[in-house]
Amino acid sequence: MKYIPTIGLEIHAELKTRSKMFCGCKNDPEEKSPNVNICPICMAHPGALPAINKEAVKHVVKTGRALGGAIADFTEFDRKNYFYPDIPKGYQISQYKYPIVSEGNLNGIEITRVHLEEDTATSKHDRGEYSLLDFNRAGIPLMELVTEPVIHDAETAVRFAKELQLLLRYLGVSGANMEKGEMRVEANISVSKTDSFGTKVEVKNLNSFKVVEKAIEYEIKRQSEKLERGEKIVQETRGWDEDREETFSQREKESSHDYRYFPDPDLPKLKLSELSEFSAEVLKKEIPEPPWDKRRRLTEILGIKNEAAEIFVTDSRLGNFFDEVAGKLAGRKEAILLASNYITSDITSILKNEDNNIPTVDSFVSLVKMLEEKVVSSRGAKDILAIMCREGGEPNKIAEKGGLLQKSDQSEIILIAKKILGDNEKVVAEFKAGKESALQYLIGQGMRASRGSVNPQMLKKTFLYLLKEN
Ligand code: ADP
Ligand code: MG
Ligand code: ZN
Repeated sequence: MKYIPTIGLEIHAELKTRSKMFCGCKNDPEEKSPNVNICPICMAHPGALPAINKEAVKHVVKTGRALGGAIADFTEFDRKNYFYPDIPKGYQISQYKYPIVSEGNLNGIEITRVHLEEDTATSKHDRGEYSLLDFNRAGIPLMELVTEPVIHDAETAVRFAKELQLLLRYLGVSGANMEKGEMRVEANISVSKTDSFGTKVEVKNLNSFKVVEKAIEYEIKRQSEKLERGEKIVQETRGWDEDREETFSQREKESSHDYRYFPDPDLPKLKLSELSEFSAEVLKKEIPEPPWDKRRRLTEILGIKNEAAEIFVTDSRLGNFFDEVAGKLAGRKEAILLASNYITSDITSILKNEDNNIPTVDSFVSLVKMLEEKVVSSRGAKDILAIMCREGGEPNKIAEKGGLLQKSDQSEIILIAKKILGDNEKVVAEFKAGKESALQYLIGQGMRASRGSVNPQMLKKTFLYLLKEN
């Protein structure tokens, strides 16, 4: 009988704010010189007084609203006591009993809470017989999101983390780059044969989506095999060994009472419901369409294929460009699909050369119209687009200059039309006598004669022109 895995995630994200969580120091994760964005507060000098960063609180409230969570009426900060060189106060300011957000849902996975805390300093252990500490990161606002233990496979866990990353970027609250440590995933994993949970193991320091997936799969296997041998799972914190591709024990897990949480007496308590700038009405205007709504709008309403939609949902530059183009082509499904194809195939590959630029919305829309009217062939459009991205310019000018307009086709259409008119004198006479449907017949003949290779719109125009002429 197989073991059923259970996974709950704890995801940290560094928030984008001007200053740190409890002091005026610059919040700059890109700063390379160590210990420059520091002050007595984030260095934990005795007696220094922290103050709450409102922008950080707002970021968490916004995230909570986007996740459909409940925003706390009352919230406060607590001290989480533990000793480690990267946390010289001897405690981390976090939230325990009254997190800013509780409940909510992402990808159908229930969220337990989202709270706010401060990041620690970074330690470097690679210099020799000593470690170095950099306090630039100490006190950067850190959001922690905790899910319920309702995930049952690695793939779903990764999909959740990716969607959260997207949301945080849409909201502009975090860069959420995992490689840079702006977003860090911890996975709690247990396996069980029964309805009740098995003992969970927490795996920390998972710094890419691939590693999250591998670590979860590794743990499921390790724990199942251990139980199969009749051994017990130890509740512990494990790390991920990148070279050996396996988890390893770091320490036996402490439980929350070990931290001796208590409300931080230096910080005011917050009545969020009394702050009008955090109200649902105010924040609604600041919360953009979330990725899951965008995905649905693109596929279900605009009829864009899943893979193309995913490109637009994840790449904000292409996604916004497409939205503007689709806006100008309002309601014209064929043209919108055409635009989508040219953006996801041609423009993406053209932009791989960093000297190239995305064209202006108007010039690209013109090109789509030229394609629709078959003024240019698809081969010609690709060449025109490459020039538009390299040098800029209007597609019709580029086409004229480069001889990319389908001129030969136009003269060919005239030849076809003249022949059809010559062969159908009776129908021509009927048309001239006012029988509108005669024109449709002539177009049908022309289409047949050209074996469908001419644009019916252009053929119609040509017929009308020739019929008026004689
Ligand atoms: P702790 O007090 O050890 O931090 P929590 O109950 O706060 O434990 O849960 C922390 C995380 O562990 C949450 O994401 C939760 O979903 C997950 N979790 C809890 N129990 C289990 C379990 N038996 N198996 C897998 N994950 C679990
Ligand atoms: Mg925990
Ligand atoms: Zn500071």
